Order: sequence, then structure tokens, then C-alpha cells
Amino acid sequence: MAVVELKGVSKQFGSDGAKAVDNFNLVTRDGEFVVLVGPSGCGKTTTMRMIAGLEQNSEGEIRIAGKDVSGMAPKDRDIAMVFQSYALYPHMTVYGNMAFSLKLKKYTKAEIDKQVTEAARVLDIEHLLDRKPRALSGGQRQRVALGRAIVRQPQVFLMDEPLSNLDAKLRVDMRAEIVKLHRKLGVTTFYVTHDQTEAMTMGQRIAVLRDGLIQQVDTPNNLYDHPANMFVAGFIGTPSMNFLKASVDAGEDRMVGEGFSLAPTPAHRSALDKAGGEVWVGVRPEHLHLQAETPAADDNVVRGRVEVVEPLGAVTLIQVRVGQVKLTAQIEPHQRIAMGDDVALRCASEQLYLFDTVSEAALL
Ligand code: ATP
Repeated sequence: MAVVELKGVSKQFGSDGAKAVDNFNLVTRDGEFVVLVGPSGCGKTTTMRMIAGLEQNSEGEIRIAGKDVSGMAPKDRDIAMVFQSYALYPHMTVYGNMAFSLKLKKYTKAEIDKQVTEAARVLDIEHLLDRKPRALSGGQRQRVALGRAIVRQPQVFLMDEPLSNLDAKLRVDMRAEIVKLHRKLGVTTFYVTHDQTEAMTMGQRIAVLRDGLIQQVDTPNNLYDHPANMFVAGFIGTPSMNFLKASVDAGEDRMVGEGFSLAPTPAHRSALDKAGGEVWVGVRPEHLHLQAETPAADDNVVRGRVEVVEPLGAVTLIQVRVGQVKLTAQIEPHQRIAMGDDVALRCASEQLYLFDTVSEAALL
């Protein structure tokens, strides 16, 4: 186990390109599970490769268990990696694959046997030890790849999209397995995904990246409840948060736009004082509710016309055209609603988010 420290870490490929990773700062706790999440090309893999020593950082410092690892070869960093491709040796059995790194380290046969058997037991693959990778399912191969990492008893695990080759159901199962495994072994883990649901369900803390820059590092709940900016607000949570541009009408004390008029809370009001005349209002689909009766003039409602109805079973999603904007609302299933209906969607002021129209930073 170890604390991993990344201080001002940057990576620039070539001399004139943009930075793939720009001033990355994060210090893990000992044994923490940290997820790096963000869209394609935001620098997740590059960050992992720098921690692993497969890529040299252009700036900054990386420490593992207090030791500066710059210039240290990957094999000396006491880390184990699990990648999307599994990278199993096809000609070796499961046992051979798991034993391989220990043989290189000149462990005795008895030690190897003990380690491999123990890891196989933890991963429930003892019955597969004599098989070759081609005779395994995707999920079983993934377990072997994990097993190969575990036997090395590293200080840090680096997992880069390890589940992306699995089907949806298996991915959900394996996600829970990895969390359980982490709880059992308590090894500091970096986990890369572009899937925000995976990030939210697995990470003790999540770093949200965009264009090489950390947008926010926080617990799943804090990212959802207190996103630092519009990017994080839109990235975390499914379906995504809706945004409406509102004018702040000081005299009327409302936030207004085409099809809506919303009341600020006292906390909003002090933020609005700083914002000038315009603001982005964010509202999550699950916080918009169909209003049954005709709303009163001062109700907190957004009015629009239903364009799409998507029944998902447990909930129904509707897309509603409000002026130039399309909103998504998550409503109770079986509510009578059809394309073309005019609707009023109610929302509580306390559940509205405000963002600066220039910096897109949260105003609260
Ligand atoms: P994905 O989810 O698609 O794997 P990512 O978030 O892991 O993306 P990286 O692979 O870290 O992103 O890439 C970050 C940026 O650095 C991208 O713009 C990519 O094109 C660039 N990049 C990555 N590796 C190299 C390289 N060896 N040479 C030049 N540019 C690179």
C-alpha cells in the first residue's frame, strides 16, 4: 500500500503541441480507490502511463510511497497494471500467466504456488488454472488479468478501462467484484474509465478531466451535489443536467427566459449579485416534475412542448422543447403524456444550480 503524489505533472508530446496533461495535482490516501474519468482524449491514459513509468512526465513530480519515481523503470515502481486488452500470453495456461512475473522475480516454486492459488481463490478461478486463455470467456480472462496483477502484491494498481471489452451485464458484475477486491486487499488503485456511472459506483474519489486539465477531484456525492462548473455538472449524472440561460430581473427578483420564470433562493440571490445580468440555470432531469394543474403565475415552472417520450420501465424520460432549448425530464412511469403535449415542469428553487455565463464556474 502507498500514497501516490502527483504534483504539477504535465505531459507535452513534441515541442509545439498542446499539453495532453496539464498541471495535474492529486495526492491519494493510502489504499484509496481513485477514478480518472473524462471524454476521449482528455489525458487519462497518459496520466496512468506517467505513473507507470511508460511515459516520462515533461514537468512536475510523481512520488510513490514517498519516493520520487522520476527516471525509475516501470518494473522498479512496485505497481501492477490491468489493461482493456488483458494482454494474456495465449500459449500459457492461466496458472502460467499468473505465475509469470513471479518466476521472473525468481520466487521459489512453493512461493509461486502459494501466491497463485491464493489469488485464484480470491477471484474464484481455481477451476480454470489449467486452461489456456482461448478456452475462457471474456469475464474469466478479465479475472485472470486481475489475478496476474494481484499475485505481484504491488503497492499500487493501475487499471485502464479494464472492463470495456465485456458486455453490459458482465461489466456491472465485474465492477462490483473489483470494488470488493479493493476492499479486501486495500491497495491504492487508479482506475480509468470514460463511463461516469462506472466512475460514480466505484470511486472513493473521482478526478474529472477535460482537455488535459483536472476540473474537480471529489467524492461521487459531492461531484453530483456540488459540481465545480458546467462541464462537471453535465458530465456527472444521467441523463445530463439541463441548462437554461436566464436574465436576472432585479426588480422582479426572478430568473427569467423564454418559457420559464424561476425564483432564486436567498443563497442564489447573493450569488446573482456577483453574476451581472445573465446566468446559466442548471436543473437535473430528476428534479423536474410534471405539474398536474394549471400553474399559478409565480410558480417555479418551465413550460414547453413534448417532443420525445421514452418509457424506460422504472421511469419515463421526456424531451421538452423550451424556446431554443431541449430539456430532459425524468417523470414517473405511466403518466399520460404524448408527443405534442404542452406541459409545465415544476422544480424546487433549492435544486437549481447557477453558473457564470463567461467562466461557466458554479456560482454557489
Ligand atoms: P481515451 O479515452 O480515448 O483513451 P484518454 O483520455 O486516455 O483518451 P490520452 O490517450 O491520454 O487520452 O490522450 C491525451 C491526448 O494526448 C490526446 O490528444 C492524444 O491524441 C495525445 N497523445 C497521446 N499519446 C500520444 C503520443 N504518443 N504522441 C502524441 N500525442 C499523443
